[in-house]
Amino acid sequence: MAKYVYFFSKEFVEGSAEMKDILGGKGANLAEMCRIGLPVPPGFTISAEVCDYYYKHNHTYPPELEEQVNEALEKLEKIRGRKLGDPKKPLLVSVRSGAAVSMPGMMDTVLNLGLNEKTLEALAEETDNPRFAWDAYRRLIQMFGDVVLGIPHEEFEHAIEEVKREFGKRQNIEGIDEMTQEQLNKLVPDTALTVDDLKELVKKYMEIYEKHGKTFPQDVNEQLWMAIGAVFGSWNNPRAVKYREIHNIKGLLGTAVNIQTMVFGNLGEDSGTGVGFTRNPSTGENKLYGEYLLNAQGEDVVAGIRTPKPIDELKNEMPKVYEELLKIKDILEKHYRDVQDFEFTIERGKLWMLQTRTGKRTAQAAVKIAVDMVKEGLIDKKTAILRIDPNSIDQLLHPTFDPEEEKKAKVIARGLPASPGAATGRVVFNAEEAEKWAKNGEAVILTRLETSPEDIGGMAVSKGILTARGGMTSHAAVVARGMGIPCVAGAGDIAIDYDNKQFKVGDVVVKQGDWISINGALGTVYLGKIPTIEPEVAGDFKTIMDWADEFRKIGVHTNADTPRDTAVAVKFGAEGIGLCRTEHMFFEGNRIVSFRKMILVADEVKTLRQRLEELPEDSEEYEKVKKELEQPLAQYNQALEELLPLQREDFIGIFRELGGRPATIRLLDPPLHEFLPKDEKGQQEMAEAMNVPVEKVKRTVEELHEFNPMLGHRGCRLGLTYPEVTEMQVRAIIEAAIQVKREGIEVRPEIMVPLVGHWKELQLTREVIDRTAKKVFEELGEKVEYKVGTMIEVPRGAITADEVAQYADFFSFGTNDLTQMGSGFSRDDAGKFLKDYVRMGIYDEDPFQVLDQTGIGRLMKIAVKYGRQTNPDLKVGICGEHGGEPKSVMFCHRIGLDYVSCSPYRVPVARLAAAQAAILYGEPGKEIEGEKLW
Ligand code: ADP
Ligand code: MG
Ligand code: MG
Repeated sequence: MAKYVYFFSKEFVEGSAEMKDILGGKGANLAEMCRIGLPVPPGFTISAEVCDYYYKHNHTYPPELEEQVNEALEKLEKIRGRKLGDPKKPLLVSVRSGAAVSMPGMMDTVLNLGLNEKTLEALAEETDNPRFAWDAYRRLIQMFGDVVLGIPHEEFEHAIEEVKREFGKRQNIEGIDEMTQEQLNKLVPDTALTVDDLKELVKKYMEIYEKHGKTFPQDVNEQLWMAIGAVFGSWNNPRAVKYREIHNIKGLLGTAVNIQTMVFGNLGEDSGTGVGFTRNPSTGENKLYGEYLLNAQGEDVVAGIRTPKPIDELKNEMPKVYEELLKIKDILEKHYRDVQDFEFTIERGKLWMLQTRTGKRTAQAAVKIAVDMVKEGLIDKKTAILRIDPNSIDQLLHPTFDPEEEKKAKVIARGLPASPGAATGRVVFNAEEAEKWAKNGEAVILTRLETSPEDIGGMAVSKGILTARGGMTSHAAVVARGMGIPCVAGAGDIAIDYDNKQFKVGDVVVKQGDWISINGALGTVYLGKIPTIEPEVAGDFKTIMDWADEFRKIGVHTNADTPRDTAVAVKFGAEGIGLCRTEHMFFEGNRIVSFRKMILVADEVKTLRQRLEELPEDSEEYEKVKKELEQPLAQYNQALEELLPLQREDFIGIFRELGGRPATIRLLDPPLHEFLPKDEKGQQEMAEAMNVPVEKVKRTVEELHEFNPMLGHRGCRLGLTYPEVTEMQVRAIIEAAIQVKREGIEVRPEIMVPLVGHWKELQLTREVIDRTAKKVFEELGEKVEYKVGTMIEVPRGAITADEVAQYADFFSFGTNDLTQMGSGFSRDDAGKFLKDYVRMGIYDEDPFQVLDQTGIGRLMKIAVKYGRQTNPDLKVGICGEHGGEPKSVMFCHRIGLDYVSCSPYRVPVARLAAAQAAILYGEPGKEIEGEKLW
C-alpha cells in the first residue's frame, strides 16, 4: 500500500531532511529537528504526492489517505493525551502548507484548528484564561474564513477595527473615529481587547460568514478535511503560480500538508513567538539574529500590526529561553552546516521549534559566512565555493548606496533593474553633453528616451544611465551591463522634454544639472544625492576568489575595448582580453568624422577599382576612370591614415595594461550604416562637417540600407570587400605591439576574424593579415608573435569547423550571434515572444541570457571536437555574453573550452562559476568524450 502520511515526534519519526521532495521543506525539517532532539510539537505530514494525485484526479484523494490520516491522528492524540474535538481535553492543531522549495507566505496555513463552541470552553477552563481561548477562537474563524472559504480578509480586519474603535470610545480616547488604522493599532493593540470584546468580534465574524452564505463548521473533523483541501487548493492560487513563474520553480509534485499540535504564544506575558537566523543574514556576522513578540501568535511577528523586538532583548526578558536558543543555534549549524532561518514559539516559558530552513542571505553575508565556516571547521573550501551563488556576487562589484541613506531618499520613479549598482550624478540629456560635463569632472547620469550606438562615448563616461523606454536587453541595458555602469531602463513614468532639457515625473520637474540617484539593482530613481560605497575584491571576498582559483581549471578573460576597462578587469582577475571590439573605438571623439569620410566614398572606390581592373590599361576609358577615382581614393586613404594612429594608441594602452596577457582583437564587425546618423538633423550636421551636399549623405545612408543587417554586409564580408580597412587595423595592432614590446613589456596579440561561415573567408582574410604583419615587421625591423583565429558565430562555421580550423590558431564562440542564427530569431525582435516561449516551457530560460545547451551548445560541441581534430593545438574560448553567466560557464568547462571571456564586472562571477564546475565535474571536456554529435 502506498504510504502518504509520515509521523514526526520526539519518540517516533518517519521523515528526514532528505525527503523534501515528498514532505516539502517544512515537513522534512520538522522531522529532522525531531531526529536531532530539538523540541518540536509532534504531528504528521501528508505527502506532496497526494497533491499531485489531487490535481490529476479531479480534486479527489487517494482512497488510502483517510485511513492513514486517522491512524496518525490517533497516534498524535495518544502522545498528547488529548483528542480532536474532545469537550474536556481537546487537541488543537495547525494545518500548514509547505513545498519542496520554500515559497514564503505564498500558500496557506490555518492555526488553532479543533476549536468550536464546546472545546473553547474546555480550553478556557483548562488554561484558566478565557481571554486566550476566545483570542484563539476568533483567529481560527478569521483564518478559516479567509484561507478555506475565500472570504476577503479585509472584512475581518474591518470588524477588528470597529471593535477597537468601540473599545477606544469606552476608554474616552479622543478623536478615535478619525484615526488611521495604524494609529488605532498603536493605541489599541490586539492584546488590549477583553473577553467581551473578543466575543463581540466573534459575533461580527459570524455575521460576515452569513453575509457570504457560509457557516463556520462546528464539526472538527469537517474543519480538518476542509483545511487540508484548502492547502492543496492553495498550491495553484494565482499568487503561488506567479511566484513559481518569477522564480522559475518547475517540476515539483505540489505542496505537502503538515498537521501539527498547536503550541501557544498568546497565553500571556510568559509566552511569545518569533523568528530567528543563526547568523546575521545581511552582514553575515556570527551572532543570533531575529525578532519576537510576547503574547502573540504565528503571523503576528511579520504582520506589522505590532512592532516586534530585537532578539537581544529576550536575553533580559527570558534569559533561560535565550540561553536555550543559543544552544539551538549551535546544534542547528553543526547539524545543517549552514545558516538556518527558524520559527519558534514560547508557551509559558517553554521553547518550541516550529520550522527551520536554509537562511537566505545577501551576497556580502554569503561570502563572510562561507569563509567563517571554513575557519570554524564546519565546512571545507569546496563546500564554501559551492555555497555562493555566482550571480549574486555581482552585487559586490558595483558601488552601492549606503543603505541607511537610501532608505531616507525620495523615490520619484521606477523602471527595470537593467544593470546593477548605485549611481549618483547630475542629469544630462545627450551623450555629447555627458562627455563635456565628464571632462570637467562632473558626475553625470545620462537620461534618454533610449540610447543608440552613437551614444557610446557619453555612456562610457556616465556614472549611470536612465532611459524611459526599452527592456532588459535594450541597447542601454546591454551596453550598461557590459560596461558595469548602473542602469535603470524603461522608467515609463518620466516624461523627457529634450527641447527644454528637463524631465517631469508626477509633479516633480528635474532639470539638466539637477542631482538624481539610481539603483540599478532595484530599478529605483531618487531625487538628490545618495552617498555610495566603492567595491573592491578584498577581505573575505578575496579569500573566496583565491580559493576559487585554486580549483578552477579553465581561464577567465574579459571583453574590454579600452585601457580603462582592461585595468578594471585585470584588477578583478582577468587573465587576458577575450574580445576587444574595435568598432567602439571608431565612435570616440573626432574619429567618427574620419570613419564617416571613408564610408562616404568606400563604395565608389570599390566600384571604380573593379571597373579599372576590367579595362585594358592603355585605353582611353582607363585613363578617365583613373582620373575619376583619384579624389575619392585620396579621401578613402586619408581617412584610413587618420584612423591608424588613433587605433594604434588604443592598442598601445591596452597592451600596456595587459602586461603580457593575451589580447584577442576582433576586426571590424558591424555593418557600415551603423556608423551613420539616422535622423535628418544628424545627416545635415554630417554633411556640413564633411563639406558635401546633404543629398550625398542621404544617398549613402540609403545605399547602405539593409533589410536584415544582422545577416548583411558585415564581419569578414566587410573586410574582404574593403581589405584596406583590415590592413589598417592589422597595421595598428602590430605596430602597437612592437612599440610596447620595445618598452620591455611582453605582448600577445591575437587577431580575430568575425563572422566566418566558410573556410575560404578565413583563408583570404588571413592572407591579408599575414601579408600586412610581414610588411610591418620589415619596416620596423622587429617581429612579434601573433595568432590569427576566428569567431565561431555562424552555424555553417561551426559544423565545418574541421575545415575552418585549417586556418585558425584559435576559435572564440560568439554565442550572441550563434544563438540568433542558430535558432533563427534575432535578439532585437525575440523580445516579443521569448517570454511566452519560456512560460510555455519551449525554452527553460531566455537563450540570450542562459546558453541553450542542447541546441546552440550542440553546435559548440561539434565545433570543438572537429576543430581540434584538424588542429590539436586549437585554443577555444567563448566571448558572447554567456561567458559571464554561471550555468553557461559550467557548460563551457564541461565541453572543454580553454577559457571564457566576459565583461570586466562579470570576471569574478565567471571565476567562481568555473571553480564550481571543476569541483562538480572534474576535468574539462568530459562531456564530449565519446559522445556522438551527429
Ligand atoms: P508560512 O509558510 O507562511 O511561514 P507556516 O505554516 O510556517 O506558514 O505558519 C504560519 C505561522 O504560524 C508561523 O509563524 C508559524 O510559526 C505558526 N505556526 C504554525 N504551526 C504552529 C503550531 N502548531 N503552533 C504554533 N504556531 C504555529
Ligand atoms: Mg513559516
Ligand atoms: Mg557577432
